[in-house]
Amino acid sequence: MIDFSLTDEQKALQAAARKYAKEVVRPEAARHDESGEFPRAIIAQAFELGLMNMTLPAGLGGVDLAHIDQALLVEELAWGCSAVATSIVANDLANLPIELGGSEEQKKRLLPSFSEKLRFASFCLTEPGAGSDVAGLSTTARKVGDEYVLDGAKCFITNGGVADQYTVFASLDRSLRHKGIACFVVEGRPQGLTVGRHENKMGQRASNTVALTFEEVVVPARNRIGAEGQGFEIAMKTLDNSRPLTAAMSVGIARAALEYSLEYTAQRRQFGKRLDEFEGVQFMLADMATDLEAARLLVYESAWLLDQGRRNTLVSSYAKRFAADMAMRVTTDAVQLYGGYGYMKDYPVEKLMRDAKLIQIYEGTSQIQRLVIARELIR
Ligand SMILES: Cc1cc2nc3c(=O)[nH]c(=O)nc-3n(C[C@H](O)[C@H](O)[C@H](O)COP(=O)(O)OP(=O)(O)OC[C@H]3O[C@@H](n4cnc5c(N)ncnc54)[C@H](O)[C@@H]3O)c2cc1C
Repeated sequence: MIDFSLTDEQKALQAAARKYAKEVVRPEAARHDESGEFPRAIIAQAFELGLMNMTLPAGLGGVDLAHIDQALLVEELAWGCSAVATSIVANDLANLPIELGGSEEQKKRLLPSFSEKLRFASFCLTEPGAGSDVAGLSTTARKVGDEYVLDGAKCFITNGGVADQYTVFASLDRSLRHKGIACFVVEGRPQGLTVGRHENKMGQRASNTVALTFEEVVVPARNRIGAEGQGFEIAMKTLDNSRPLTAAMSVGIARAALEYSLEYTAQRRQFGKRLDEFEGVQFMLADMATDLEAARLLVYESAWLLDQGRRNTLVSSYAKRFAADMAMRVTTDAVQLYGGYGYMKDYPVEKLMRDAKLIQIYEGTSQIQRLVIARELIR
């Protein structure tokens, strides 16, 4: 049987997140977009409200949300501002490798502090020479006694300039490609770790994005997550878990764009009529709403599979690909419906269009999602 109704707990979570997004996030979103200032105070309130570190299990101080609940929460956060949502979800992306691949000792040592105070973490996979081609990464890890020494460069790392902990993927033997990769947790800012400048981005401008350089950074062997050579698998499992959330973010952005479009076309008059009285405009609104709903259903299915303990690689790539492309279309149409005003920063929809673009790029581009989908279909 299929049931799309929400439980009372889910409705309460959604309402709390919506209230936070409306009253705390939205009023500050344009200012942070303009300045690019990291919204620490805004995120601190999410932390106080229990709207952060959503993947953290209860036994480790977390709120223990089901995957479907996490998706509901992220849609609301992104409806408020996707730069805030990305900064919040980046913590989960960084901690998921530990949650999914760490030993009990590592989980107890490296995760509970995130529920005790406001801390940030970064997931460090992408490199200047290895973006989509993750197996080609060139950051190296050398075992020296009871430690590993990391050398290399990472780029476009979310939360990288504000993080208290870094989850880093590095190769022990580059000739082995994906089989040579291992996952490490770097605590704090050890000697040899250099943080680059905050990138000046098109959209999601307030999320912190930096390059990182690792020069002889020493990591204790007890901070290696999983076995040597298991890093690639851990990264892919992490992405299977995070893609429903990234897709949910697209749904939140698109929902905001649709709502603004409905409001605007109801009050703007041309040719003696409201815009929403024109069939051409109605068709655009209808397509926006239909695509949004279809994306939301894929988000729910990809999260539901995880809640059933089932593999969701195919459906999470369907969700990420479809939702990201949908958000780009819907936000572009919202700008179109606002006409010249849509192109102005005084109106909210141009920000949504810039913000949506990122989701087609990070955590695997829309092309890479298609590759994953095709591989899953063919195998
Ligand atoms: C704001 C921002 C935040 C980010 N945050 C993080 C983060 O926190 N942690 C992290 O590790 N990374 C992060 N990333 C990196 C992001 O995941 C990569 O940018 C992305 O995976 C693409 O890699 P690339 O930029 O090197 O592009 P490339 O891999 O060089 O791709 C360039 C183009 O070629 C296409 N392409 C590549 N290979 C193929 C192929 N086989 N078939 C068809 N088309 C292909 C791509 O789809 C793309 O259109 C972030 C990026 C941005 C912009």
